[in-house]
Amino acid sequence: MSRLFAGTPWDRPPTCERCGKLVAECRCPPPVPSAPKPSGQIDSKGQRVTVRREKRQKGKEVTVVRGIDPAKNDLPNLLTRLKSSLGTGGSLDGTDVILQGDQIERVKAALEKLGFQPK
Ligand SMILES: [Zn+2]
Repeated sequence: MSRLFAGTPWDRPPTCERCGKLVAECRCPPPVPSAPKPSGQIDSKGQRVTVRREKRQKGKEVTVVRGIDPAKNDLPNLLTRLKSSLGTGGSLDGTDVILQGDQIERVKAALEKLGFQPK
């Protein structure tokens, strides 16, 4: 008789990968949940982002980057990189990266260097 499910998980009861016991008998501590992304990660490949100039309180101009995927990119790290490459201040507003001053072209160039596709 052929074993229809040979080699599939259905072939045997699930066992713990660490102690090899049946999951029902396993007493291993629960695995540490892995971080959603490695710290510092910038996964910008082909990511389209928009760069806009906006006016904030007191007529202060800022350059706002929108559309960055927070699941793929470490936003605080990205902000730090942009601030240092532009030599300007900035902050995060949700998933928006806010950089001080009107410097659309410089921000776009910095984003392109990181692999983004700014519009
Ligand atoms: Zn175990």
